This record gives sequence, structure tokens and C-alpha cells, in this order.
Amino acid sequence: MAVIVQKYGGTSVGALDRIANVARRVAARKDQGNDMVVVVSAMAGETDRLINMAKEITPIPNEREMDVLVSTGEQVTIALLAITLQSMGYKAKSYCAWQLPLATDAAFGAARVTDIDTQKISEDLSNGAIVIIAGFQGVDENGDITTLGRGGSDTSAVAVAAGLKADLCEIFTDVDGVYSTDPNIVPEAKKISSIAYEEMLEMASLGAKVLYIRAVEFAMRHKVPLIVRSSFNDNEGTLVTEESSDMEKESVRAVTCSSKEAKITFSGIPDVPGTASQLFLALAESNVVVDMIIQNSSEEGKTDISFTVPSADLEKGLEICQGVREILGAEKLTGSKDMAKVSIIGLGMRSHTGVASRMFAALAREGINIEMISTSEIKISCVIKKKYAELAVRVLHDVFELEKPL
Ligand code: ASP
Ligand code: MG
Repeated sequence: MAVIVQKYGGTSVGALDRIANVARRVAARKDQGNDMVVVVSAMAGETDRLINMAKEITPIPNEREMDVLVSTGEQVTIALLAITLQSMGYKAKSYCAWQLPLATDAAFGAARVTDIDTQKISEDLSNGAIVIIAGFQGVDENGDITTLGRGGSDTSAVAVAAGLKADLCEIFTDVDGVYSTDPNIVPEAKKISSIAYEEMLEMASLGAKVLYIRAVEFAMRHKVPLIVRSSFNDNEGTLVTEESSDMEKESVRAVTCSSKEAKITFSGIPDVPGTASQLFLALAESNVVVDMIIQNSSEEGKTDISFTVPSADLEKGLEICQGVREILGAEKLTGSKDMAKVSIIGLGMRSHTGVASRMFAALAREGINIEMISTSEIKISCVIKKKYAELAVRVLHDVFELEKPL
């Protein structure tokens, strides 16, 4: 008998008939003799509705109270799903995170899972019940309710699966799996049948929205096999798992794009020890997340530093930079908002040569200027003007032959 953890996202439980659909799917797997644990999100739109209500009262609501508020969305869906399953004749029992408990640190709104007590879950499973757990939420050392960050139910599901040493963790969503790129941009994008944790981690951090990055990290650390699939059909999804030699056959497996990037450039900074440290310390202290950083080799004792930040943080980033500009002795400070980052990802890059030059040549043929480049062992990212983002994605998908075979 297998232990299966399933997670259903907000659109999959967005209305009573959809909850009934979820219940039927869970029941079918239970009937096959599996032990079923289900993690659910709030009904679609509910978390936003709750956040907006608080923001109507005050622009910066108290973080502790925000978690008390937004965690309620999931409490509604667990109960509705349990009631639905019971009305179908199944034993079902729901739990909020604090009841287990699923323990986290105290970082309200972005808490990290530290431990999960699976005793109640195991007992219920051995009594034949389907166990339903509220995603997104946790409880800290003080007994305060926390939440794991937007999209955090994926992480809850992986944590539960890791704790139970489940045979499988299935993430049900509104898409069929992980695609070679966003099918809204490239209709010929193909579904990837299996992908390595590292590749998925890069994809999640580089703009693919299908899985939440912390969930992938957790799954990788605890070797939880994940399947991403649709709750609206029975198509096979994408398996996220440990790397295999098969995965290295193609040099590039996916193209991602994030178009909410901004670039800040300091020119003419004296090239002396400590400048980068002062600059990035100031940014870090104000919680501005810096992504790519480039420093030129110096000429006549001066250098340039460019870096990217989320476009929502450009104003704040520039303000901080303005503050340290004089201390650093920089000549010029500029910021540009409408940037995008396109990336190609694949384990095969380790063994295939010429991948970078093919990428750059393809962009050049379209007249797309590359403003920044960063690489890791299994990805290459280019920062370009946002208006070229979709074109770049299409061209790269084409050049690396990622479309479905005819
Ligand atoms: N309900 C939360 C959100 O909308 C968590 C989740 O859906 O995973 O972000
Ligand atoms: Mg959601």
C-alpha cells in the first residue's frame, strides 16, 4: 500500500463543484488501496481578497495579524473537502497546521518549515481515514500562526510528504505539467516528462511559475519524488526527481523569462576594496533583493557596477544607491525599469559545448542587445529590454529545438 500526498491549488478548489471533483479524484486513489493525505490551498482569489481587506484598513498591517487573517482561507477548504468526502461515505479528517503541529520559524509571511509531527496523520491513516491538511500555514515556537509565503501550499505538501516518507507527492494545478517554456508565448512548447531537481530549481527561480521554489528545494533535500499534473484531466504530468543520464542528452531543456526586472548602474566608482561591500550591505539592510551583479575590469582606477533588482524595488533601490553614492565617490547613477531576463536551462550544458555562443548568436540575429549575462553550470541568463522578451523566448525555443516532435 502506497502513501500518497496530493496537493490541490486554489483554482482546483475554487468552487464547491471543483471541491467535489477533487474529492472524487482522492476517493478513486483511496479505492485503489492507497493511504491518502491531501493538502489544499485557499479557494482561488481568497488569499488576495483577505490581503486587500486588511490593506483597506491600513497600508502596512501588522505581520502577525496578517498571518492569522490569510491562513483562514485554507481552513475553509480543508473543512469543505472533509465534509464532501464524508458525504460520499469516506472517513475524512481535516487539520490546521497548528493542530499537527507543522512547525516553522517566526518569519511571518515567509516562514520556513522546521519540523512536522506526523503522529496524528499516521494514526488517522491506519484507521482508514483520508487526512486533509491546510496548506500555506504553520505555527512557530510561541504558538503563533505563520504562513509560508505566497504559493506556499506546495511547500506544505512536500514537507508533509517528507515527514511521512510518502511514496509520491502529486502537485495538482491548472496546467498539465512543466513545459519547455510558457505555452502562452510558444504554443508549440512541449511538456517535459521528467526533470531533475536542479533544473526545476533554476526554472522556478528564473520565472517559471508552475512550482514554488522553496517546495523544490525541500523536495531536493529530502529526495521527495514530485509529480506536477492537472486536476482537470488525467494526463500524465511531469516527474521532478533526481538526475539521470537521460536528462543530459539534450543541451537545453527549457527557456524561461521573467519580465519584472530593473537594472541599476553605478559608473566611475573608485576601484578600491570595500565599495561593493558597502553598496550591497546598504541594499541588503533595506531588504532589496539583488539578483545579477556585474563589475567591469577597472580603467584608470575606476570601475562600473551594474546589478538587477525586481522592478517593483527600483525606486527604493535607487534611493538607497543615491544615499551611498557620495560615500562611494561614484560619478554617475542610472536606473532602467523595463528589463527582462531570458534564460536557458539544462543539465546537458555541462557536457555540450557551444551552448552560450548559439544563444548569443540567436539573439544577435534578431537585433536583440544583451545588457548583462550570467551563467551557472546548468543555465545561462541574459538581461535584455523587456519589449524583446517574447521574441527572445520564441527564438531560443526554436534554436534549441524544444518544440514537440511532429
Ligand atoms: N493561498 C496561498 C496563496 O494564494 C497559498 C497557496 O495557494 O499555495 O498564495
Ligand atoms: Mg495559490
